[in-house]
Amino acid sequence: MHNIWKRSEAATGSRFIGAGKILRKEKTKNMRLCSIASGSSGNCVYVGTDATHLLIDVGISGKRTEAGLRELGIRPQDIDGIFLTHEHADHISGLGVMARKYGVPVYGTRGTIGAVRSMHSLGTIDEELFHYVKADEKLTVKDVTVYPIRTSHDAAEPVAYRISHDKKKVGIITDLGCYNDYTVECLRDLDLLYLEANHDINMLQVGPYPYYLKQRILGRKGHLSNEAAGKLLSRLLHDKMQAVVLGHLSQENNLPELAYETVRLEVAMSDTAYQADDFPLYVAKRNEVSQMLDV
Ligand SMILES: [Zn+2]
Ligand SMILES: [Zn+2]
Repeated sequence: MHNIWKRSEAATGSRFIGAGKILRKEKTKNMRLCSIASGSSGNCVYVGTDATHLLIDVGISGKRTEAGLRELGIRPQDIDGIFLTHEHADHISGLGVMARKYGVPVYGTRGTIGAVRSMHSLGTIDEELFHYVKADEKLTVKDVTVYPIRTSHDAAEPVAYRISHDKKKVGIITDLGCYNDYTVECLRDLDLLYLEANHDINMLQVGPYPYYLKQRILGRKGHLSNEAAGKLLSRLLHDKMQAVVLGHLSQENNLPELAYETVRLEVAMSDTAYQADDFPLYVAKRNEVSQMLDV
């Protein structure tokens, strides 16, 4: 229950956004999200309903994915699909095992699946398990609708995802160097947002990474800084947003406290009517399964 890192009481209770108002939690829970692993060493996020269980990326070993699902009380063979954001190792390293052992269907763009196929390290994956998705073309898996969103990242054809069920919407967006009005439009009216806060710009600049890598991360096809995450979040806040989770933190160039405070500060400094205390803000831990968030 306490595995998502939390900063303060103000950010943890049943407080919901509403321009200063505290809204009551609805009784019926429609969608759930849980971070199984988060960060540059491996990413795996569970999103589901009572009937449908999805993973966004499997960037940790098959064993760790199995263990994470066990903690959630979900059998790996009950996963209805793995949705890939892109082919970088921190998003796919457990893919071969999960696909082969449990026959889980794998969804990704043509570019991502093409890149995954050419990676011999993953072993052979049955062709029939691959399903193509296209940015801005929604598809249905049982009782959820998945909408791929184009992202700016140095991969073949990267996407983020918006997943909805009934009237509930969850957005998972990591690995992007920048965002624009299109990104904001795709992530409107979410009930829950899982957002990249990859690095602190100053820590990255003075840190040990070689120059080319710093430029890559800071570039338009790199990763979202804490500041940029806060700015993007400020444009996405609205009365129904029930929780925000910061994820994909860099181990070398970020700290959970810094990501948390910087994002709150950006919200406070922005034009939005909302304050940083108006919504629960969590930071996903690198190697721990987070609490399950229900919306
Ligand atoms: Zn990446
Ligand atoms: Zn990544």
